[in-house]
Amino acid sequence: PAAAAEKKEVDHIPLVLEELKTKKKVLIAQTAPAVRIAIGEELGLGPGVNATGKMVAALRRLGFDYVFDTLAGADLTIMEEGFELLERLEGLVARRTDVPPLPMFTSCCPGWIGFVETCAPEIIPHISTCKSPHMMVGAVLKTYFAEKINRRPDEISVVSVMPCVRKQAEADRMMFHTPDASAREVDHVITTKDLSKLCQEQGIDFASLPDEEFDEFLGIGTGAAALFGTTGGVMEAALRTVYDVVTGEKLERVNWDPVRGLEGTKEASITIAPNPEGPLHNTEPVTVNIAVANGLGNAKKLLKAVQEGQKEYHFIEVMACPGGCIGGGGQPRSKDKEILQKRQGALYSVDERKVLRRSHESPVVQQLYDEFLERPNSHKAHELLHTYYVPCGPEKFDINAPPEEMVSPVA
Ligand code: SF4
Repeated sequence: PAAAAEKKEVDHIPLVLEELKTKKKVLIAQTAPAVRIAIGEELGLGPGVNATGKMVAALRRLGFDYVFDTLAGADLTIMEEGFELLERLEGLVARRTDVPPLPMFTSCCPGWIGFVETCAPEIIPHISTCKSPHMMVGAVLKTYFAEKINRRPDEISVVSVMPCVRKQAEADRMMFHTPDASAREVDHVITTKDLSKLCQEQGIDFASLPDEEFDEFLGIGTGAAALFGTTGGVMEAALRTVYDVVTGEKLERVNWDPVRGLEGTKEASITIAPNPEGPLHNTEPVTVNIAVANGLGNAKKLLKAVQEGQKEYHFIEVMACPGGCIGGGGQPRSKDKEILQKRQGALYSVDERKVLRRSHESPVVQQLYDEFLERPNSHKAHELLHTYYVPCGPEKFDINAPPEEMVSPVA
């Protein structure tokens, strides 16, 4: 824990600037969904403006060789997590004891994982083993992509631009290195505020930049993946894919209203009739009970209700910050009292404008499974895209001292 605490103290911005200056490595930036709708707030654009194209252009002006979209990793997360949920549901139906238990909790929020490891280690078997989206992107870049561009993993530096002050500690976890242990999967994490400051310091006139596209390959993400940036989004994205995979039909109305909005907890049930060819094919229609906790305080209450047997769910999403990553500690502070609604609305709009709105429709996901990962939850996918958790955790987490990201982002 002491080593992890020391690592958290490291300021990665000078390290990133040094790498941009010396150009000794292939420099790759990836950006989380919530960054694009907040980065413009301190750079001359209004609140809730989707600045994706200008953000990509700014990262190129800073000197990155490739700019990729963490949305591609979010789509991969949905595939892995969705199939993990189905495996657990099949285990429940068949009364198997060798399959991890339900309810399954999401794993993409390091604030939540830090709480579980330190304060509720008994529920570790219930946490999805999926790495978070930016760590999945890091794993793919340092293996599959490194091979494609004919570079060793240690000749590539991956910089994640995140809304989160906990993602650096996540990237610093000892297990997150390449299978040959030659390189970290993600080298540096900077926040939305850091990127905004870098643009200002480097004299980049952000508001005047043209809109540019992400680089090909990991530059394509679906609307479902964009929803990861807000509370309820992981659940909505997962339901779109799980429903289609189990029924063999397309969910007609992809907007899943019961998990939308900014309420503290949301819950719903969805009944799915299995297709004879697909997962759960030997069962009657299955009713899946889901819940979403917005903020760590609500997650604690929900967990207590589950542990006391007052509530029965199959799948629970937890995001530690108010509103999810749109309200993360690395996002700009705002005097606008409606800021979370505006950022959330902007992400819903990113989703609605995408042609592809289901993770399993992503061409990136299809290419990765065809050429590299074989199928969701394959041995290869487990080796690269899944992880494990440590009771008491590699990082200290004091529940009595609310971390920065639990404070309202409204200044
Ligand atoms: Fe980080 Fe907060 Fe998002 Fe969790 S909800 S991943 S702590 S920004």
